[in-house]
Formats: sequence, C-alpha cells, structure tokens
Amino acid sequence: MTDGARSATPPGLTPREVATHCPYCALQCGMTLRADDAGVTVHPREFPTNRGGLCQKGWTAAELLDHPDRLTTPLVRDAATGELHPASWDTALDRVVAGIRAVQHDAGRDAVAVFGGGGLTNEKAYALGKFARIGLRTRHIDYNGRFCMSSAAAAGMRAFGIDRGLPFPLADLGRADTLLLVGANPAETMPPLVRWLTEQRRNGGKLIVIDPRVTATARQADLHLQPLPGTDLAVANALLHIALTEGWVDRDYVADRTTGFDAVRRGVAAWWPARAEQLSGVPVADLEATARALGTGGRVIILTARGAEQHAKGVDTVTAYVNLALALGLPGRDGSGYGCLTGQGNGQGGREHGQKADQLPGYRRIDDPVAREHVAGVWGVPADELPGPGVPAYQLLDSLGTPGGPRALLVFGSNPVVSAPRAARIEGRLRDLDLLVVADLLLSETAALADVVLPTAQWAEEDGTMTNLEGRVLRRRALRPPPPGVRTDLAIISDLAARLADAESTDVDPSDANPTSARPAAVAAARFPADPAAVFAELRRASAGGAADYAGISWDRIDADDGVYWPCPTEDGPDTPRLFADRFATADGRARFHPVDHRPAAEEVCATYPLHFTTGRVLAQYQSGAQTRRVAALRRAAPEAFVELHPDLATRLGIDDGDPVRVTSRRGEFRAPARLSAGIRPDTVFAPFHYAGAGRANSVTNDAVDPISGMPEFKICAVRVEKA
Ligand code: SF4
Repeated sequence: MTDGARSATPPGLTPREVATHCPYCALQCGMTLRADDAGVTVHPREFPTNRGGLCQKGWTAAELLDHPDRLTTPLVRDAATGELHPASWDTALDRVVAGIRAVQHDAGRDAVAVFGGGGLTNEKAYALGKFARIGLRTRHIDYNGRFCMSSAAAAGMRAFGIDRGLPFPLADLGRADTLLLVGANPAETMPPLVRWLTEQRRNGGKLIVIDPRVTATARQADLHLQPLPGTDLAVANALLHIALTEGWVDRDYVADRTTGFDAVRRGVAAWWPARAEQLSGVPVADLEATARALGTGGRVIILTARGAEQHAKGVDTVTAYVNLALALGLPGRDGSGYGCLTGQGNGQGGREHGQKADQLPGYRRIDDPVAREHVAGVWGVPADELPGPGVPAYQLLDSLGTPGGPRALLVFGSNPVVSAPRAARIEGRLRDLDLLVVADLLLSETAALADVVLPTAQWAEEDGTMTNLEGRVLRRRALRPPPPGVRTDLAIISDLAARLADAESTDVDPSDANPTSARPAAVAAARFPADPAAVFAELRRASAGGAADYAGISWDRIDADDGVYWPCPTEDGPDTPRLFADRFATADGRARFHPVDHRPAAEEVCATYPLHFTTGRVLAQYQSGAQTRRVAALRRAAPEAFVELHPDLATRLGIDDGDPVRVTSRRGEFRAPARLSAGIRPDTVFAPFHYAGAGRANSVTNDAVDPISGMPEFKICAVRVEKA
C-alpha cells in the first residue's frame, strides 16, 4: 500500500468495503475499496482482466476522495469582479437555468450545447443524451470520446456492422501465436494488461509492435517496426501485399464471409514492400517477417490503438488493418481476430448510450426513423420532437460563441482546455460563451473558465455501470455517500430538468391557473431519475433491439458473473463474449472490405517547421491530468511535461538533456524540458499531453479531423524545436 492510497476516514463511517473497479482507464481493473480507521484504501482484487494487478494510478485513486482541492460547494462567477465565489445549489442552478433560457429565447434551442465524457458511467451517458434531446431539446451534444477512439469505432461499424473494441475476451491475447499491436503502448497506459503479453510470449507467441517510438511495450516485442508517424496505413497495405504474394490470404474465408475484396486486392497491389519502406522507413525485411508471422501463425490477433487512430485518415488507417485481418481470415476465428484497445474508463459504454451527436441509446442512429420511434416511446415523447444529429466534438467546440454557434455549454466529465487539439483556440471559444457550466469534482482548467461550477461525486461515492474494453458491463459500487455539498451528476441533471420544465411552463402559459397535468417540474424529475438503478432499468429498455443491447443485463447478473458482455437481449439468455463466430452484424452477415490508400498528413514538415510532432501518454498520468496531477505519488513520478528528442537531433539543435525547449507549430507553442532518447526517430519529437499551462502539448497539435469519425489529428503535425 502506498501512502498515496490513503485518505481520511469520513466522519461517522463504519468500517466497510466494496468490490468495485478503478476510476481511470478502460481496463477497469477490479479493486476493493476499504474504509476503516486508516482511511479509504485501495486493494487489488482478482478479476479476469487484471488478475489482481493495478497500476500506480489505480493504487492511488482514493487520494482524491478527501483531497484539499476537492470542490464541495457550487461556484458562481461574480459579474462585477469576474471571480468565482461559493454559492448555494439553488443560486447556482437558478443561474444555470436563467442562462439557458436566455440563450434559447434569443437564439433557439440549438444555442445550448452539452459536452460529455468517456469516463461517465453508462447511466450518466444515457441521462446526458436524453437530457440534451428532450430536456434542452438541442441537437448539440457530443463528448471527448471523439478524441479517443472514434476512428476505430467508425472503421468497425463499416467493416463489421458493429463497434465493440474487443470482440473477444482479453484473455485471448495470452493464447495468440502472433500478436500485432499498432500504435498501442499498454505497458504505460494499462500496465496490468502486460501480464497477457507476458503470458503470450511465455506460451511461445510472437509479439510485434508498430510504433514510431521505442516505448516500454516496444521494448518487450520480438519485432519492433518504427515507421514515420502517419504511415501506418501504407505499412498495413504492404503487409497485405506480401500476404497476397505469398499465398497467405484465406481465400475460403474471404469468399464465404466477406464482400469487396477485389477492390482491396487491386489497391494493395501498388504497395510493394520497397515502396512502403521508402515512405515509412520500415525495412522490407521487417515487413516480410511481420507478414509471415501474421500469415502463417495459428492464432493471430491484430490490435490498434490511438497511434493508428488519431489521424485525419484514422478511419482509413484502422480499416487497412481490418482489411489485413479479414484477408487472413482472423475475425470470428477462435483465438484470433481484430480489436481496438479502448482508452477511457467508459470509452466503450460512453459511445453506446446517446452522448454522441449522431446517436441514440443502444448504438442506434438518431437519423433512423425506427430508432427514433423506439427511443421516443421509452422517453414518452413524440418521435418528431427529438432533434436531429449534431456535429462532432471538435466542430462543436470550435463553433462555440461564433455566429450561429452555441452560446451556452454544459460540460460533464471533460477538460477540453487541456485535451482538445489546438487548445488555445478552444480556450478562446469557451471564453466567448454567454454561459459555461462545468460539473466536476475539481477545479479543472475548463472549470476555472466557467460561469457556474457544480461539484460532483466521485467514483467511490456513487453506484452505476461501466463497460470495459471487452464490451463487458461492470458494476461500480459506492463505498460512501458524497460529502456534504456535493451531488451526483444524475442528481444535477434531474434537478436541472425539473427547474427547466417549471420555468418553461411558466413562460409558455403563465395564465393557466388550472393545469390539467401534474406540475411540469415533478414530471421532469420523474422523467430524469437521480437513482442510477432506475436509470439503468430505463437504459435497458431503450437499448433493447439495438446493436448494443443491454436488455438482459441486470445489476444482479453482473454481480453473479463478473460482468456481462453485450449484446445480451434477454435475462435468461446468454451474453456474448465472442462476436462474429457465425456472422457479422451486417445485413447479409458478411464483413465488408473497403479499399483505402495512404495520403499525407494534414500538415507536412517544411523549412519553417521541419520536424514531426506526436503526442501520447505516460504511466503516471491520465488524460488531461486534472485528477492525476493532484495525486502526490503520481506528481512525483511524472511532475511535468517533457519533450523527447533523439540525441542526434538535440546535438544539431544545440540542446542538452534537461534544457528548456520551445516547440512551435503554426497554431502556437509550448515549453518543457528536453528529454533525450535514442528510442525516437531523429525526425520526430514527442510530448505527453497531460499537462496544462506552459507545458500544454495540445497548444501546438493540429485540429484537422478525420472526415468520417471527426477524430482530430493528435498524432502528427509539423513543428520546430528551439532551446527556450
Ligand atoms: S488506470 Fe487502468 S490499468 Fe491502471 S489500475 Fe486503473 S484500470 Fe487498471
């Protein structure tokens, strides 16, 4: 137990413990939380995914429960002084409702937007989507999951007809003869997963990593391909080219279970290995060795992550690896397949229940008339009252406060001031709003800009469900109630809905002294329950029949079975640990090939900005760092941003290890100490994106987005680096 895992015992709490899961990443490691005289402590728990392992972030998660920075009262900005001041909940919520009403009165329903997060529970994601559509009646809702894995989601949808990160249990990794990781660094992002990689290699399997950096994961690989950032797609096409040439394509599988292969075959014909080497820098011999391991292995798994996805061609890049997997006959084959390593804690569930701009619960499309009828029926409103699709996250953020764009924004569980690309521009957009409301447990960099800050409960203070990277639905259990003055997100949504309904009814029909129905506030409060069990019960009905069908998943069943895999349509029927054994989720049951070709990054290097810049994560920090930067042990381990560069490049630039350097792109600059490493290409520099202020890496990243997924190009832009 580390010191960082301890926090003061809440007064009056009797010793007790709960089995729950880590609040951070999508591995959702099982842990036991215990409250006793020593405080709240974290204990590893045997669970099928983490098998008793936790990383430093999980071990120290309880430190935030009673952290001195914890918000325990709403804050409202004083118009005269411009300062945030403590306020009562009534004052804060009245200010929010008055602001929403003023903006919608002036500029229409869509002038209010909602921005959610991939860390919210399924219940919150569902309630937030519903609140936007029938509480605020705005089309503008999206979430930070767009920044995380929307490209893999889109690629999965178009190939398989369904988007579940891993279509098989994580344990399959340990049995793979060949495992290819593309742009994934689980040794730093989710260390307990490495146990599966170790097991895989102990069983004689081969681990191959594609990454521009020699990461902690790449160091464990049997073979590391180190391509130039932005060339993963060409590498995939070359691998398929070799597989075709060598006769490793599974022609029976392609004929029986897929469509569209001919166009892909013609496309990859142009990607002979030497051409791919010239573009990517990956030697032909390594391409051939990789193709051989994939094409001749028994059980073969290909996994992509942010390195492949966070590009303006992220959907096509992931598609290229899906094409490769399909050509080799992997998806649906026992012990084999293609999958995506989801990042955020509820990155999977967060994109299934309606906080995406184009989506309704159950992974339904909001422009599908049948889906609208079903969900509207569950919500008790006419289908034609549901708004249409909104716009993806970056487009939404970039339109805030602009003519025709939203003028009010409600943020739940997100910190775009640090996590959005071209962050200074987004910070400016947030400042231009008439009303910014942020619900958070700490004064994040985004909350610090808000007109109203609403203090919310933490993971150990509320019940709910999360869906991990395998599509396994898990229970989050409350150890204790929120501290006085703090409310859950569901309670906030419920209260806001009630106040809005009340205010609207007064506005619309002030002379009606004889209302025929119950008070609108009471109706709205009942429609938006604060009880997570009630929300989950409704979510199950809303998702029934959809792609992500939770209808048969009860909290009791989750407790009994170590989680339940969706789809699970009936309580007495099976869940679905493995997808695609017999058919894909397309109309004809066949997977779809899509021809994709390399194209340059949205911004290429030039004389002024001669270096490639790429971002990523470090072990001790999580996402925007708003939480983990406040945990003492994590701060000690990774206190500040750094700029990783090759010693040869550093020599050329006159930079020594530890020197302060400035990284500049067309969009801005950030400063951080240099960290020299022979593990990065001499033409590329890297920085972690978890830090704010002068070290904010997203000050320079490119806001070009993928045309299909809307995912920004975090992984490559052009910069120059100088000693600061
Ligand atoms: S951050 Fe991820 S890997 Fe670390 S303990 Fe939490 S769930 Fe597990």
